[in-house]
Amino acid sequence: MRSTMQESPLSIARIVRYAATFHSSSETVTWTGESSRRRTYGEVGTRAARLANGLRSLGIQGDQRVGTFMWNNNEHLEAYAAIPSMGAVLHTLNIRLFPEQLIYIANHAEDQAVIVDGSLIPLFAPQLSSMKTVKHIIVSGEGDRSLLGSHAAVHDYEELLAAQSENFDFEAASAGTDEQDAAAICYTSGTTGNPKGVAYSHRSIYLHSMYALTPSAFGISAADKILAIVPMFHAMAWGLPYAAMFSGADMHMPDRFLQPEPLCKFISQEKPTVGGAVPTVWNAMLAYLDAQEPKIRVDSLRDVAIGGSACPRALMTGIEERHGVKLLHAWGMTETSPLGSVARPPAGLSKEESLAYRLTQGLLPCPVEGRITDDNGDVLPNDGKAVGELEVRGPWIAGSYIENPNMPDPDAQKDKFRDGWLRTGDVAMITPDGFITLTDRAKDIIKSGGEWISSVDLENAIMGHPAVAEAAVIGVPDPKWDERPLAAVVPRAGESVSFDELREFLGDKVARWQLPEHWAFIAEVPKTSVGKFDKKVLRKQHADGELEVTTF
Ligand code: AMP
Repeated sequence: MRSTMQESPLSIARIVRYAATFHSSSETVTWTGESSRRRTYGEVGTRAARLANGLRSLGIQGDQRVGTFMWNNNEHLEAYAAIPSMGAVLHTLNIRLFPEQLIYIANHAEDQAVIVDGSLIPLFAPQLSSMKTVKHIIVSGEGDRSLLGSHAAVHDYEELLAAQSENFDFEAASAGTDEQDAAAICYTSGTTGNPKGVAYSHRSIYLHSMYALTPSAFGISAADKILAIVPMFHAMAWGLPYAAMFSGADMHMPDRFLQPEPLCKFISQEKPTVGGAVPTVWNAMLAYLDAQEPKIRVDSLRDVAIGGSACPRALMTGIEERHGVKLLHAWGMTETSPLGSVARPPAGLSKEESLAYRLTQGLLPCPVEGRITDDNGDVLPNDGKAVGELEVRGPWIAGSYIENPNMPDPDAQKDKFRDGWLRTGDVAMITPDGFITLTDRAKDIIKSGGEWISSVDLENAIMGHPAVAEAAVIGVPDPKWDERPLAAVVPRAGESVSFDELREFLGDKVARWQLPEHWAFIAEVPKTSVGKFDKKVLRKQHADGELEVTTF
């Protein structure tokens, strides 16, 4: 028996239309360093229509790809609204990729036009002549346009919009769009091989937005103000932009002002309630906030998602106890839209038990199934003890990567998908009640004498020391044990600490045989384009003899 329900395709156009009509006075707010630029969702709706007309006038048709090379700001949100709604595909280019990776992804996605923030022209322009399919550059804001040369036609964003009608029939434009068609593309920022493209569908984004809003995830309503520090070019800013339009919550964006001082000023002025950023950002914010007298208030923030790498305990408790901000640990990947799990503890627990739950990578939501497998691919029990590779599947999980027949990559899908499951490359345990604890990335785990040591556990334990700003742990070759841990430590500014003290500090926190015997001080942990510890670079620095290592 077929249901008697209406066919109602899930689409981005629907989300945008809803925001622009029923939440027309909700705001999108961009920080300028000292104050905010504001627009209403009503204006976003008409400006998205103008942008869609403008893109059509430049020849953008069907499912052609339009790139963005932008900070988090009002105009980027307009691109999020307009491009998928007109049936085209939004490709958010990661401004921090290496030049050759940037060229690769623009060519692989076959971007026809790119909207570029004026301030980012110097970063973008040198690659432009290698982006074979790009015919139009639309510059938003001030910048040296002469750097863009003559490879593509250059347009001014505001002039393009001003010349257009504010009516665009999004419904007609997306009539031929199936909900499984691509709406947006992100490429992984993986540190090995070519970046891999994930194409999100209208359906996956719609369902993912609904999950993001639930009380089990971020618990967002029209009464909220969302602060998206996580870049809109990294896994769609964790779904926050579409969740904002879906709910009518205000959207706050820091533009290029990502240092603790302007961020805290922005927060204390605009008083956002929820948001998201990676641990590196919160770490820097905590150090800054601790040093301020009188104290800067950031406690308008109720729940702030933290993820992308593990949230250290000292960070979660420090920012909550001293500054009243509750961090909400979440796990995900570009391939998972990205929300895979969020750590909301069950009811009836003591504070300490609750904290233990909050420090896991979180609970799998109903639509996302997870399992762990051993080296043979056999499924292990969800008993909270067995450790294996995490695999997930569900309506907003990638089932494959984008293939471009003109740029074949024989290894594109290799070892990444099994029987309809995405292999995450993360090593994890799952409890019987569905909470995931990541022990490491498969490639970062340290194999010592047949046993596994979690580099992440060691890092978090070391970063619990008050004189430590950051610490990264890698496995280094050992003739007896195969590998042993090397801890690379960044002391907090103005503090000093010895390796002996750190070893003693770890004494009651990790098993004796896991205690690192190799130690080095470094100025900074190398980071990837999205702010994660880049252990490949650290391993190379060690292999090249660039680290001054003390061995116990
Ligand atoms: P990306 O696709 O760049 O977002 O990277 C995804 C990877 O980030 C995951 O496979 C994890 O290894 C890591 N990751 C994301 N969230 C967390 C988290 N909460 N704790 C630990 N690692 C995380």
